[in-house]
Amino acid sequence: MALPIVAIIGRPNVGKSTLANRFAGDNQAIVFDEPGITRDRTYRNAFWGGRDFLIVDTGGLVFDDETEFLPLIRQQAELALEEAVAAVLVVDGKAGLTAADEEIANWLRRQSKPVLLAVNKCESLELGLSQAAEFWELGLGTPYPVSSIHGNGTGDLLEELMTHLPPEAEILDDPEINVAIIGRPNVGKSSLLNAFVGETRAIVSPISGTTRDAIDTRVEFEGVRYRLIDTAGIRRKKSIDYGPEFFSINRAFKAIRRSDVVLMVIDAEDGVTEQDQKLADRVISEGRACVIVVNKWDAIEKDSDTIYLFERNLRSKLYFMDWASMIFVSALTGQRVPKIFELIHQGWEQHRRRVTTSTINEILEEAVRWHSPPTSRQGKQGRIYYGTQVSAQPPAIALFVNDPKRFKDNYRRYIEGQIRSNLGFEGTPVRLFWRGKRPRDVEPSLNRATRV
Ligand code: GDP
Ligand code: GDP
Repeated sequence: MALPIVAIIGRPNVGKSTLANRFAGDNQAIVFDEPGITRDRTYRNAFWGGRDFLIVDTGGLVFDDETEFLPLIRQQAELALEEAVAAVLVVDGKAGLTAADEEIANWLRRQSKPVLLAVNKCESLELGLSQAAEFWELGLGTPYPVSSIHGNGTGDLLEELMTHLPPEAEILDDPEINVAIIGRPNVGKSSLLNAFVGETRAIVSPISGTTRDAIDTRVEFEGVRYRLIDTAGIRRKKSIDYGPEFFSINRAFKAIRRSDVVLMVIDAEDGVTEQDQKLADRVISEGRACVIVVNKWDAIEKDSDTIYLFERNLRSKLYFMDWASMIFVSALTGQRVPKIFELIHQGWEQHRRRVTTSTINEILEEAVRWHSPPTSRQGKQGRIYYGTQVSAQPPAIALFVNDPKRFKDNYRRYIEGQIRSNLGFEGTPVRLFWRGKRPRDVEPSLNRATRV
């Protein structure tokens, strides 16, 4: 579920962080380190009036100042507002109205988002009302006198804020792709995460209702939302508490379980290790879509054959997941990083895809025509009656046959190959079930049909 975001905006020292803390209670802040930005956006989960939402607190918005970082801070605030459903402009009731407040208010009025006005540092109720009154001038509606430190007035403010959140039903309809980023330590998972955050527009880290220490990062790329699972595990790398191995493999297993698509990150310099194979095994047994991301491609000396040779070598060690897409990237330079999203999206679509029974049977009919099922020594031939997709995520196809024992591995692989080459299913595992069925239950058999 995509949580609505509320941006807290205002010049420095008016009490934005204090107000954000009041809204969020004990919820941990999630800070994004983006290179070159002095003060980062922080996200916190908040809960009020039965609603979960996120607050994003930004560096002070300051206009007309020479300091070199200010444009960046301002850019951060603009980004924060862009992804928010509403903003709270915080001003300082003790200091009174300043030119900077007016400038920020002018800017906010030109945006299309609802803005609430919090006049902070109003500890005294009577004094507060008169302190707040002068901020009517900003043209942003009712100034709410509040004290972020003591909490007075914040209830009324939140009450109104709730009226600006989209209805919950709307939020639930928004699809989201769950992505687990897994791989051995040092392959570049956290670098990749940072590269994603740099490429994408909306960045949020919410979760309600899951384990405390699993923090997800939500990004939006070309209108699609991706939830990067358990990025806390990626950020908090050197965990001494459990020992790094235990920690990472168990975390990876949990992340795989919660995902739709797994990004298996491999270090181009090291290739596929035994641990990678173990992770790949788990991806398959959990039936997840998968993109193999070969990172640090910048560090490899290349000529025209290199990528081909690398792919062949890596695939030979991951032969059991030949359906996975593979991409060569550099988290460091950003090379092909946006393309990863395309592959994730493709894997996700294929993973949930459903094909009609008639399509499957056309393929089977054709396959059987080219290469008939084996005949036993007693002269009994294997027969495929029909096939149908029985479930998705991942796609599973049941093949009804006269006797599964007559279909040995090589013929099964042939049929699988035919299904793959006709239906694609790129990036997702597909499961085939060979089921015995008495011939009188299903007529006509494809073998017979092919003879007509
Ligand atoms: P920010 O820079 O806008 O995030 O402001 P901070 O939250 O860091 O607060 C700036 C200063 O104002 C700190 O010294 C706070 O203790 C103080 N402050 C914040 N909220 C209140 C309040 O409600 N009342 C009073 N009196 N001081 C406050
Ligand atoms: P993690 O443990 O999987 O999260 O790996 P990190 O993201 O911390 O990266 C481990 C090391 O590899 C760091 O020193 C990174 O700077 C380096 N690294 C990550 N991605 C790349 C890349 O694309 N190219 C190169 N040359 N180095 C990288």
